[in-house]
Amino acid sequence: MKQFVPAAAVVALQITACIAEELLPVQIRAPTPGHFSDIVANNTLDFGCRPVALPTSDGKFELQALLTRDQISWLHGEYSSDESITIQETVLDKRQTSGKAPIGTGDRFSGGSVTPSGLGTKANTASIASILNVNEINSALTGLANAYPGAFFKYNLPYTTFQGRTSVAAYTGAGADTSKYRLYLSAGMHARERGGPDNLLYWVADLLAANKSGSGLTYGSKSYTNAQVKSVLNAGIVLFPLVNPDGVVYDQSSGSLWRKNRNTRSGTSGSSIGVDLNRNFNFLWNFRKFFSSSVSPASTSPSSEAFYGTAAESEQETKNHVSVYDKFPGLRWFMDIHSAAGTILYSWGDDVNQSTDPKMNFLNATYDGKRGVTSDTVYKEYIPAADATNIKRAADAAVAGMRGVGSRSYTSQQAVGLYPTSGASDDYAFSRFWAKPGVSKVYGFTMEFGYSTNFYPTTSEFNNNIRDTNAGFMEWALTAVAVGF
Ligand SMILES: [Zn+2]
Repeated sequence: MKQFVPAAAVVALQITACIAEELLPVQIRAPTPGHFSDIVANNTLDFGCRPVALPTSDGKFELQALLTRDQISWLHGEYSSDESITIQETVLDKRQTSGKAPIGTGDRFSGGSVTPSGLGTKANTASIASILNVNEINSALTGLANAYPGAFFKYNLPYTTFQGRTSVAAYTGAGADTSKYRLYLSAGMHARERGGPDNLLYWVADLLAANKSGSGLTYGSKSYTNAQVKSVLNAGIVLFPLVNPDGVVYDQSSGSLWRKNRNTRSGTSGSSIGVDLNRNFNFLWNFRKFFSSSVSPASTSPSSEAFYGTAAESEQETKNHVSVYDKFPGLRWFMDIHSAAGTILYSWGDDVNQSTDPKMNFLNATYDGKRGVTSDTVYKEYIPAADATNIKRAADAAVAGMRGVGSRSYTSQQAVGLYPTSGASDDYAFSRFWAKPGVSKVYGFTMEFGYSTNFYPTTSEFNNNIRDTNAGFMEWALTAVAVGF
């Protein structure tokens, strides 16, 4: 019998951490999204950032999940008599370990003396060999500040993380006056969603390099002129590339598909550690009060991947994220970068949209206990018709740009999609205008790059993701400029 001892030894080292969690990508198929309603109501299961039903080529719908072997067995048992629902798990090694893009070692930017350089200024065959580690994300910001003095500004956010880390944000394109910034993008909120910070940093590096050299940008089959680059930069871009550094440090060192932060106040071991930052924002946070008891848009259980924390904005990382709106009061468009589903999500995420009854809205206590059931008409979330048109236009443009790169397909959909969420960053962004008198109206989006449940991309996928997202950011930002601020 052939023995591949050296290779096996390497693989064993790499997958040790994964074995502890033993999460398998699972595809659940059904004729309609409604068939998934009971499954997604079970908030002990991990559906990624939020449950999404994606249409399949044979006219059905697919729901992706990451499940333990016990959960898969249970699911097979539950639906063994229902022929319309099929459950198919994927072999672990293929999607979680083999061929995955490595995490960078050392510091490729040498503490900021080397300037980050993206893919849009390079040939389409160019490739970035590894994912940025946490130190590199910070030195990339230093490198951009060093390369573009007076044009790229970085600053420390006010709240240190649970483990004592200082988070860094930056702004560029509209000068030193922080009231002139209109676009806000963040990444690295869910730790395991590898490549999110890279997508954002390399895009901004591209914009600055093209602006300086007078050139355009190219991502696969999509190209942008220097005038378009300048137009996007002039809108003023605020970037917060690593929202959850504690979680990312842990995920990068453990390979455990870690999602939450590393707060131990509500639980000190295993999955009970950490809060889901994307359920911790101050938008209908107390879901038991605001939503129908038949839905679980977040979880009160510390061991859930969607644990909402101990209060709205209880987490330092969430407070940092929110502080950006106060420093940049003219922000108008927000994009939170997540993976992995291949979608652009737009408002709202708590219930189906309606534009006819302004009084039926998230602030109206009359509807407490009634929100979140997407199949009924008891409650639908109010969105002014003009806003609905603008956000759909931007989401569709971003999707077209991402498809245009040429590596794969994407879709846009309302964030509520298959199931509601509470306390999410995109809804919080959009809700501020109504909840806090005097603040600007911010359109909130979530980009879900990458293939479903494939949180650890291969090197090839990692590079495709950079090109796809960067074209998506360009189209989204150009639409923002066209809509006007
Ligand atoms: Zn996410």
